[in-house]
Amino acid sequence: MGIIVQKFGGTSVADATKIKNVAKRVVQTHDEGHRVAVVVSAMGDTTDRLENLAYEISANPPERELAMLMSTGEQVSIALLAMAVSELGHRAISLTGTQVGIMTGGFYSEARIQSINRGRILSELEQGKIVILAGYQGVTIDNEITTLGRGASDTTAVAVAATLDADRCDIYTDVDGVYTADPRIVPNARKLGQITHDEMLEMARLGAKVLHSRSVELAKKFDVNLCVRSSFTESEGTIVVKEGEMIEEVVVSGVTSDKDQAKVSLLGVPDTPGIAARIFQEIADTHINIDMIIQNISHEGTTDISFTVAKKDLGATLKIAEILKAKIGCQNISTDKNIAKVSAIGIGMKSHVGIAARMFRALADEGINIQMISTSEIKISCVIDDREAEHAVRAIHDRFELGNTSNENVGIQG
Ligand code: ADP
Ligand code: ASP
Ligand code: MG
Repeated sequence: MGIIVQKFGGTSVADATKIKNVAKRVVQTHDEGHRVAVVVSAMGDTTDRLENLAYEISANPPERELAMLMSTGEQVSIALLAMAVSELGHRAISLTGTQVGIMTGGFYSEARIQSINRGRILSELEQGKIVILAGYQGVTIDNEITTLGRGASDTTAVAVAATLDADRCDIYTDVDGVYTADPRIVPNARKLGQITHDEMLEMARLGAKVLHSRSVELAKKFDVNLCVRSSFTESEGTIVVKEGEMIEEVVVSGVTSDKDQAKVSLLGVPDTPGIAARIFQEIADTHINIDMIIQNISHEGTTDISFTVAKKDLGATLKIAEILKAKIGCQNISTDKNIAKVSAIGIGMKSHVGIAARMFRALADEGINIQMISTSEIKISCVIDDREAEHAVRAIHDRFELGNTSNENVGIQG
């Protein structure tokens, strides 16, 4: 009998009625003859509320206690779901990350799963139970509780599916699949039947929060059959597939925006060899991720260097920038929190030219100024004013005619 992993997000378990509905779905899959492991998120906006509470107590809560606090939301929902499944006459057991042995590295937040002890899950499944696991949390070798990053219950689910060699990992959420853009921003966005791992990975990294990016990485690496579908309807979801399995050939498959960025500029930096290496090494040493970088043309022996970081890292980045200012003799530091990154993603970019020009033209026609640009084989990103983010996403989405299946954008391979 094969194993199916099902993951239900916060909105899917937001209240008692919804939890009872989830229990029905889980039991139905079990009754169809599968062994079922379920991964659940915290109810509704519980994780946000817990985080806000911490910041009401302290401007700088200790990482350890933050993980301890924020991991509790999932413990509530797994217990309630296990009760709901029992009510339907089936055997269920809820297990925390510590009980299952979801082992992670040492960071308290954004921890990475290193291994999962499949023995406990398998033995409970063998006894005919539906196993209900807490998403988003793990434990270190020293028994410290960790969290895997916001939205990471998806990653727990895919990691569990990989460990159990499951037939499928279905991510149930409040949309019925992956769309060409966030349907909350673009009302005529189109649901994709399939998307490749690499496109999904870029979309997730660039702001489409429908899947946690690490979950897509794991699905690709461990060959997990991953599907995004609705908790509330029976409609077919979106399957994440290998590149060779794509039936539709699209040039651009999605447009995303990310407002969680800030720009830092070091102005009047001496333009000598080794300066960039020094600046970015100091920042890397504190585990801050740099995204885009721009260096201006040198002017009278000095240059300006701008880069983007996640908003949450801005304070720490500024501290390092101040130290660097003294050390390397840069003239000034400026920051801008009011930026957004808009991106177009598609594997068709590998073989089509002119995509960047078309995206820039879409922004220009709307009077939207581009501050920074970065590209890779399958994506183009632009930093713009954050007040223009939604407007820009709609403009790019329209320009590539993603809302309807025009011949220009969609074709059949082969
Ligand atoms: P869950 O709580 O189930 O994990 P999330 O809120 O994390 O759900 O993710 C689902 C949300 O992702 C949707 O409600 C939607 O607004 C948003 N989203 C952003 N981009 C996309 C996209 N391209 N396709 C589908 N949903 C998207
Ligand atoms: N509850 C966690 C969060 O809100 C994890 C998740 O929902 O995936 O980020
Ligand atoms: Mg999510």
